[in-house]
Amino acid sequence: PMTFSRIGQLLSGPSGIQELMDDLGAAMTSHPDMRMLGGGQPAAIPEVQALWRKRMHALVEDGPALDRMLLNYDPPSGNPHFREAFAAFLKRECGWDVTRENICVLPSSQAAFFLLFNLLAGDSPSGKKRILCPLVPEYIGYANQGLSEEHFAACLPQIEEHGPHEIKYRVDFEALRKAITPDIAAMAVSCPTNPTGNVLTQGEFDGLRDLARKHGIPLIVDNAYGHPFPDVLYTGFHPHWEEGMIFSISMSKVGLPGVRNAMIVASKEIVKALSNMNAILALANPNLGQTLLTPLLADDTLPRLSREVIRPFYKARSDFAAEVLTNSLGDRTRWALHAREGAFFLWLWLKDLRITSAELYQRLKERSVLVIPGHYFSFGLEQPWAHAAQCLRITFSQPHDIVQEGLEILAEEAVKASQ
Ligand code: PLP
Repeated sequence: PMTFSRIGQLLSGPSGIQELMDDLGAAMTSHPDMRMLGGGQPAAIPEVQALWRKRMHALVEDGPALDRMLLNYDPPSGNPHFREAFAAFLKRECGWDVTRENICVLPSSQAAFFLLFNLLAGDSPSGKKRILCPLVPEYIGYANQGLSEEHFAACLPQIEEHGPHEIKYRVDFEALRKAITPDIAAMAVSCPTNPTGNVLTQGEFDGLRDLARKHGIPLIVDNAYGHPFPDVLYTGFHPHWEEGMIFSISMSKVGLPGVRNAMIVASKEIVKALSNMNAILALANPNLGQTLLTPLLADDTLPRLSREVIRPFYKARSDFAAEVLTNSLGDRTRWALHAREGAFFLWLWLKDLRITSAELYQRLKERSVLVIPGHYFSFGLEQPWAHAAQCLRITFSQPHDIVQEGLEILAEEAVKASQ
């Protein structure tokens, strides 16, 4: 067998996410009747699809624009016209004090986080540095991105109970203050959170901002589901970028995961560093997404579509899924959902589960239902967290009949495994 480099081994070796993705892929291929309640892709929303079709038609009709797009390598920081238009858009729609020098386009937010986490943490002249997740469960896609061992540190939440069937995770500031040791290079939080659907409160966000300022470290906010698009959040909280923060805004959840583009909003220094890294990694960015979006940035088309179509679509799906689950679990076992404040998922806590959620995942797969077991979303911890192994992430963006059948089977198996 070949011997790979240390970094080669870190990236190519088995990882939780790769095993899970392989397993999901194999299950979907061998069982065409599989009910997919595990994925993260956006739903097909007719009004949104229609907008992208219209933009694609306009682009193909305009020969010279199409040629320019296909023929050119853009600068590694993104198309200059797009960066200008995006900065003006953020200034107008969000009130952020940014210019195009605060915007870096990258080939997806997944790639952006890989670059950011390794720019900021790992071996440094002042010793080993780490990224701190102030509130796990947190996005599974970060877990294996560090090019050093133990790249992440994390804090467990306080679990607030709202009646028998709802919980909300809150930042544990006492634990967090202790966790920000001198080796912490930055804090990173997705808001709305994948997997839990949590949205930080204004107070929590201000608390994170103040701690980051006090320690002179960036606060990284992953806005994949947030404002200004797709704005799939129901609490009304729209965090505000300011100097010292790093925001990531993806094109994926507004129906364009295939274009692979995200925009980082950061200080000029960080933007320049990311752009130089991107030149080494990819030379230039995919430019289809930037070309499709640019004319839409001149007005409020995207925030309006998000508010009036995309958000209500996911809210209705979330309500439907929660209702099916409530009816089928009833009081046959003790359970709670995380407060449904945003994103595309339900986070279910089965309080009496006697097997791990990984085992429940296997049983459900045998009954043609795919979900994601909760332990994948708690990384960076010193001890395994028993609570996460009683939780599941459920995607509700599939058609109603699939969600309904899937959740009814899930409820049966969950009750059986909790007795
Ligand atoms: N961040 C979060 C919180 C996500 O849920 C996802 C995708 O599911 C990503 C980042 C990655 O998105 P992208 O398609 O921009 O790589």
